[in-house]
Amino acid sequence: MTDITNVTVFGTGVLGSQIIMQAAYHGKTVTGYDISDDLLAELPDRWEWMRGYYRRDLADFDEAKFDAAIGSIRTTTDIAEAVADADLVIEAIPENLDLKKQVWAQIGAHAPEKTIFTTNTSTLRPSDFAADTGRPEKFLALHFANLVWRYNTGEVMVTPQTDKKYFDAVLEFAGEIGLVAVPIHKETPGYLLNSLLVPWLNAGAALYVNGVANPADIDNVWRTATNSPHGPFQVFDTVGFNVAANISRASGDPTRIKFADMLQKGIDAGKAGLGDGQGFYRY
Ligand code: NAD
Repeated sequence: MTDITNVTVFGTGVLGSQIIMQAAYHGKTVTGYDISDDLLAELPDRWEWMRGYYRRDLADFDEAKFDAAIGSIRTTTDIAEAVADADLVIEAIPENLDLKKQVWAQIGAHAPEKTIFTTNTSTLRPSDFAADTGRPEKFLALHFANLVWRYNTGEVMVTPQTDKKYFDAVLEFAGEIGLVAVPIHKETPGYLLNSLLVPWLNAGAALYVNGVANPADIDNVWRTATNSPHGPFQVFDTVGFNVAANISRASGDPTRIKFADMLQKGIDAGKAGLGDGQGFYRY
């Protein structure tokens, strides 16, 4: 059992709100920080949205525990108050290096000595803003996946400056809040999951863009040969064409840009994946 009881989550958006609930549902005392009261006022709707999924996805879902979690969550727009007694900070603010640097400097200035710092960044290199925290030895990544309660991986990744004792503590904490804790011993953009997933998705996209095979056949060979439930184009539908097109275009790679152009046609037609009821497949 760790000493981590009081958890403060910075950013209460898509991931931050899910992280808050994950930790509160597992008995931690959680404070959510965001930049305006209007944003914090959206949280009750998010809890009710999540309740439906928890009920559906968790075989041992406990309604009373969920209500207790909601009742225990505190929110604030005051940084000093947010971190005053934090054992752990989890940062889930927008994916922008300058903003992360700025916010971490503020967190570092206000948090007590005991606080361990973690970032949920997906694509930035944590060591690029470790110094801004003022305590790089206590700073590392704790990376959640979207739909935290269901895809409950906790990728725990060091920077070159992280002290092992905090790495161990965050790994144990991840287990305490119901995550499958995954240790990553060397800083790697994309962590483990995306280091595997992204090249696989790109390989599928390239086969299609180059006219080698159709999405349904590419997915079919993958599912049949690996006993996996999903092929790459089913994953593209789940991720949504907007995210996939943005990432593909930003890569600068000609094949991936061609793929982004294909996805754009689906976006323009209102068929951008699972959320629209149609992407590569109809739902
Ligand atoms: P989001 O835009 O939904 O939420 C970001 C939140 O941060 C918003 O509520 C915003 O008001 C708040 N914010 C903005 N400026 C702030 C500041 N100065 N201080 C505190 N809060 C501030 O973004 P998201 O999708 O939840 O992503 C957050 C982080 O989590 C990013 O680093 C992202 O890479 C990572 N992440 C996202 C996903 C995902 O699927 N969305 C998955 C894993 C990790």
